[in-house]
Amino acid sequence: MVGKTVIETSGGVKGKVKDVIFDLGGGVTFLVQGADGKDSQIPLSKVTGISEHVVVKGETATEAGESSYGTTCKFCGAQKPAEERWCPSCGRSQT
Ligand SMILES: [Zn+2]
Repeated sequence: MVGKTVIETSGGVKGKVKDVIFDLGGGVTFLVQGADGKDSQIPLSKVTGISEHVVVKGETATEAGESSYGTTCKFCGAQKPAEERWCPSCGRSQT
């Protein structure tokens, strides 16, 4: 498992599996090292398939909240995924 390439359903490469964390509650989290060298944690619930690669759903949230991932809404300033055309907070189109 460790060393497998992690790809997103959108087709992008997320990074490589650095470690697999099993927590006491029975949860499984993948520690993924991104191309930029930053680690991110992907819960098993985000993983849609494991074969030659680990496939995860498009967007992954980091726990710290200080991620540079995504953009902010130009109307209300809420954080939103970069590929999202509408703001999840105020619902206005970003185009
Ligand atoms: Zn907004």
